[in-house]
Amino acid sequence: MPLIQTLSPHLADLIAAGEVVERPASVVKELLENAIDAGASAVIVELRGGGMSLIRVSDNGCGIAPEELPTAFLRHATSKLRAEEDLSAIGTLGFRGEALAAIAAVSHIEIASRRRGGETGARLCLNAGVPGAVEEYGCPEGTAIFVRDLFFNTPARMKFMKKDSAEAAAAAAVVQQTALSHPRISFKLLRDGAEQLYTPGDGKLLSAIYAALGRDFALSLLEAAGRDGPVVAEGYVTKSLQCRGTRSMQHFFVNGRYVKSPLLAAALEEGYKNQMMKGKFPGCVLHLSLPLNEVDVNVHPAKTVVKFLRERAVFDVVYHTVRSALERGGEAPAPDRARNMLPGVSLPAAEKPPVLPEKKEGFYRTMTAGEFRAASAPSAGGRPLGSAPARPAPPPSPAPDAGAGRSGTPGGDLGRFCDIAPVDSGPMVLPLPVPARRYAMAQEAEAKANGPEKAAEAAAQERDMDTEAGRLSCQETLTPEEAPWRIAGEVLRTYIVAEDNEGNVWLIDKHAAHERINFDRLKAMAGPVMGQQLLAPEAVALGPREYAVLLERLPLLNEFGFSAEDFGNGTILCRTCPAELEVSGIAPALEEIAAELLRTGRADPKAARDAILHTMACKAAIKAGMTSDEKELRVLVDKVQRGEIQFCPHGRPVRVKLSGYELEKMFKRA
Ligand code: ADP
Ligand code: MG
Repeated sequence: MPLIQTLSPHLADLIAAGEVVERPASVVKELLENAIDAGASAVIVELRGGGMSLIRVSDNGCGIAPEELPTAFLRHATSKLRAEEDLSAIGTLGFRGEALAAIAAVSHIEIASRRRGGETGARLCLNAGVPGAVEEYGCPEGTAIFVRDLFFNTPARMKFMKKDSAEAAAAAAVVQQTALSHPRISFKLLRDGAEQLYTPGDGKLLSAIYAALGRDFALSLLEAAGRDGPVVAEGYVTKSLQCRGTRSMQHFFVNGRYVKSPLLAAALEEGYKNQMMKGKFPGCVLHLSLPLNEVDVNVHPAKTVVKFLRERAVFDVVYHTVRSALERGGEAPAPDRARNMLPGVSLPAAEKPPVLPEKKEGFYRTMTAGEFRAASAPSAGGRPLGSAPARPAPPPSPAPDAGAGRSGTPGGDLGRFCDIAPVDSGPMVLPLPVPARRYAMAQEAEAKANGPEKAAEAAAQERDMDTEAGRLSCQETLTPEEAPWRIAGEVLRTYIVAEDNEGNVWLIDKHAAHERINFDRLKAMAGPVMGQQLLAPEAVALGPREYAVLLERLPLLNEFGFSAEDFGNGTILCRTCPAELEVSGIAPALEEIAAELLRTGRADPKAARDAILHTMACKAAIKAGMTSDEKELRVLVDKVQRGEIQFCPHGRPVRVKLSGYELEKMFKRA
């Protein structure tokens, strides 16, 4: 064993830096927190080269005195904590006194600052944490920090950096969250010279939402507010019909700090129970304030995880706030008793958030902290909290975009996917998928504008598409040796019951079977898929992490028929989409692909490809809970009979066999 030695201060700094400074986004976060703690009302963030070549954060806060400039960069140097007692009531965003030291250790820094009311400012440069001399400097009140060449002296860390666009997206997400957390402060983000975000700082949360998350999202919101004693919730939640495919639009803030909290997400989602389509998630921008000593922020170096002293109280306030917002918005029927108890709230006029109805045991059914933990623990199938359970769905309510011919029509939903068209219906012309139809219509319109030859060409093209579909539809025939299994019917709108020729009963999961078929078909396709041209490009606004992970995978998305490009500001623009999707399905599909990539396929290209295949296969599959045409069932049963499908792409069984003997045993006949 070598000798045990104390690390040199420089090495200790480098190691500590790794905890705080992971990527440009973490630098931006720390510098923004300092600006807010300094009482700034306007902050500008500038990024160059994804933040790797330059991050500048300028504020008009209290500034730092010239003689204190070097101190600010010492480890454990802070003006925000004095004694141990202070730790139990942290009111500032920073308190660990290590951000500036950590950032300085891995970059070149220039800081210029002038105290409010100070005669003149001062400037200091640091090279890998080593300060130069403080010099007098003419600058406006406030502080400007320039961080250059991040990680220049830690090549190992540098290797982990993603493309500039992905790093910039992550940093932009931080600015976005910070802007949402402080509507009174105006934030501006410049990326390589171009303005990416600007919030007015007028104190209105909705203005910040509008600027940071976009108009569409802002328009989908209901105001929400409620309190229980010192615990106050205020902000906006989505109308139930505007819920989304992932949790990416759930933004929670606790005492002005952006947090990730399964507890708050569970409380929000519990509020939408029975109001929301399965597999959808509400979005929100909710601010919680509670006494400083009731929340512990010192749980994690990145300070995005918090612990609540009274979890139940926090859960209930969020839950009731959401319920009453939905009820007021006419989104949820108020139970009679609740209506009587609600203090006739009219929100916009109210200065203070309304006091929530007094709780009575069993009146509102909320979860206990234990129940919520159980519910939020990933189940065996690994489904995320609140998503559709893997059991039969209740009778379906028609989805708004279900379109015609979903069931009952020959071909039905399956008809959209040529290679598993009904077997015994003979050659038939399949309806073109919607985007293709739209494309054809657009072509036709264009042709009309261009003259008769072009029109004839377009018509011929359309005919080609039709005959191709017809050809594909009849190429699937049964092997004659085996008599087809008898289909006894469908139960719980999910399982097909069939009987084979050897006296066994088979239960087949419709959705799983179809998903497998799609998955195999997509996987077998060699080369990139041609997307369907959209009439107008579709802009999809995503959550920050989803946006960043998709940016890393744009070429792969392209291969699957999404010609997708970075549209800036958390938005991805699609000019084509895979034939399986309708326009309304593009955003949910991208959200799901992103979620799947974040879960599984972040680094590994093969896993990333499978993540997309999974999502597309699932999107294109008939859903459990929908009645299916008999011919659709036949196609699936035949495939199972031929042993072609056994497990769904996630590894769940597609079919379960019950032998005659097993049945007899159940009935005590054997
Ligand atoms: P912390 O924020 O945890 O105190 P930092 O390393 O981030 O630690 O900052 C060290 C100190 O430098 C702060 O406590 C504060 O006094 C001062 N400081 C940093 N940034 C600013 C700023 N933008 N304006 C005024 N003071 C600042
Ligand atoms: Mg700080």
